[in-house]
Amino acid sequence: MARIPCVLSIAGFDPSGGAGIQADLKTCAALQVYAATVVTAVTVQDTQGVRKVFPLPASLVAAQLDALALDMALVAVKTGMLATGETVEVVAAKVREHSLPRLVVDPVFSSHDGFPLLSEDGIEALRRLLLPLAMVVTPNLLEAETLVGHPLQDPSDVRAAAKEIWSLGPRVVIVKGGHGEGPSAVDLVYDGQAFLELASPRLQGVAAHGTGCTFATAIAAFLARGMEPLEAIRQAKEFVARALAHAFPVGRGRRPLHHFWAWWPAPREGRVDIPWAGV
Ligand code: PLP
Repeated sequence: MARIPCVLSIAGFDPSGGAGIQADLKTCAALQVYAATVVTAVTVQDTQGVRKVFPLPASLVAAQLDALALDMALVAVKTGMLATGETVEVVAAKVREHSLPRLVVDPVFSSHDGFPLLSEDGIEALRRLLLPLAMVVTPNLLEAETLVGHPLQDPSDVRAAAKEIWSLGPRVVIVKGGHGEGPSAVDLVYDGQAFLELASPRLQGVAAHGTGCTFATAIAAFLARGMEPLEAIRQAKEFVARALAHAFPVGRGRRPLHHFWAWWPAPREGRVDIPWAGV
């Protein structure tokens, strides 16, 4: 009997269900791979923003990783929110120790509303220890600026940054243009040899939550299904665009993506009924 590929997500817990571990589980289910999850931190957040972050001890992250890696055939791994430098160090050491394959690193530095999700020493550890192990790294423009240490003002800056990040060790770098401006969101892919631009129409007025988590996990899922990185990136972009186009309101703030748009429709417009709040 053919086995369902297992993807491991190492990420933060989002009680509002839109990002982190929760987005990763939904992404894997929608893309028909199994997801195992290692929790790095518990956040307090709702659809309007992150309020608090409680990192778990790095030793607990290590123990979760050991248990899963010794038990399951993990075919691809995605890292999201890692919270502390110690946790980044532990994750890098365990990826090496267990020879975990097809690592997708989403360099999560802060939330949409600017709440820090990785410490300063964590950012440095990620550059030094985790990026050299990555098959794919998925910074947005702001994260790319942090990784290279200066602002990216025009397309030639973004290309130079992609090359610089690539020189830190990942096989493929994709700088996401979703936070930029203009009618289309252009992602820049660099694999050490050539640049590739992937454009999609920018959806005006959709304030969504969990887009980055979903994208990186979708890449890991498609890698686990046997695709090469460039094809996995293309397919993941298509999946995110559709899930974003079907995002639906659940609270007063940002909308979670609709990962299961192909299975069941969700109303796309209309106010959210929160009767007890009198709105
Ligand atoms: N919370 C967790 C646990 C996350 O992993 C992330 C992003 O990766 C966020 C919040 C922030 O998500 P967003 O930037 O979509 O608000």
